[in-house]
Amino acid sequence: MDFLSEAKRAEPEIVKNRRALHQHPEVAYHEEATSRFVAERLESMGVGVKRGVGGTGVVGTLKGSKKGRVVALRADMDGLPVQEMADVEFRSKVDGVMHACGHDTHVAMLLGAARILSGNRDELSGTVKFLFQPAEEHGGRGGALPMIEAGVMKDPKVDFVFGLHISNNQKSGEIGVREGSFMAAPDTFKVKVVGRGGHGSAPHETIDPIYVAAHVILALQGISARMIDPIRPFVITVGAVHSGTKENIIPDQATLEGTIRTLDEGTRSRAKKKVEEVAKGVCRSFGATAEVEFEQDAYPVTVNDPRTTREAVKVLRKMAGIKVKEVDPILGGEDFSRFLQKAPGTFYFLGTNNASKGCVYPNHSSRFKVDEDVLKYGAASLAMLAYEFGNPKGPR
Ligand SMILES: [Zn+2]
Ligand SMILES: [Zn+2]
Repeated sequence: MDFLSEAKRAEPEIVKNRRALHQHPEVAYHEEATSRFVAERLESMGVGVKRGVGGTGVVGTLKGSKKGRVVALRADMDGLPVQEMADVEFRSKVDGVMHACGHDTHVAMLLGAARILSGNRDELSGTVKFLFQPAEEHGGRGGALPMIEAGVMKDPKVDFVFGLHISNNQKSGEIGVREGSFMAAPDTFKVKVVGRGGHGSAPHETIDPIYVAAHVILALQGISARMIDPIRPFVITVGAVHSGTKENIIPDQATLEGTIRTLDEGTRSRAKKKVEEVAKGVCRSFGATAEVEFEQDAYPVTVNDPRTTREAVKVLRKMAGIKVKEVDPILGGEDFSRFLQKAPGTFYFLGTNNASKGCVYPNHSSRFKVDEDVLKYGAASLAMLAYEFGNPKGPR
């Protein structure tokens, strides 16, 4: 089977779907129109459809005509609260919401893969499950977990799972992947520094939480410098500081919000413990107290199964026109990680950086723009992986 030719045939439909989705982005857990769009198209291809899975999720099931294994392919569907500034003629029609992470392209490419696979059911072994997931951008309670809780990885049990992300960090025509830890666990924390307010002219009668919070911010960076093994990737960022109302009032409290990123569970649990110890210790030394809270249910580390990933790379390298590269891990988070905890599989990046087309802005930028020529590669890659891994003896 020549998947790239099939994808080229489906390309006008993929691009049309993508642009329609791009004009009507919906934020996490509000993907009603998007999931309707997905369900209707899957049904028109003769794919079995289940709606309302884990919120607004949609699952399509396609049985091949031959016996084989069960392969799940996943696309996330949510847009972001960003006002679009990209110079495209199909700009978002929804004020303040944009597909700034390219999840519109993920949906369109997975629908493209469904088109290719459903048109070649006679050649197909096993079963393909198309997982259209809500709310990847939601943080802790992303859409993968409720879909798993709704049973998408069971009945029939998924043997392999694959997903991709469109990425401006890589050039158009490149696929980036690596075995093992690939994306970080993103743990969000809040530190409430509780002092005692008073008059700005008499700080000695107060416990100034702003002053103490400043020390906490500095000390937290010491976790990275002095408490985490330097050969383990780790970053800590305090991204929000809230306190005070007026220059001559010392407030009662200050709140810090931040994130830590790690690529292994050992570093992760040590870092979380240290954030709490350092914040509490610094506060105590100035007479204040700290309340430290980590978001529950943060995404796990995204770990690509080494063996599956090696085989997947071999499969993808058969496609003409693209280059499959091993890339460094990144410290962004992904709740595709949750599917990878249930079945071996691979998450990979599809490059879309192309200066000649103005596709130079990073994911999440209000000017983020996708090189639509790469969508056919994405659709073909997903279809290829489902086809090859559905084979009872594995990839040919
Ligand atoms: Zn994103
Ligand atoms: Zn994303």
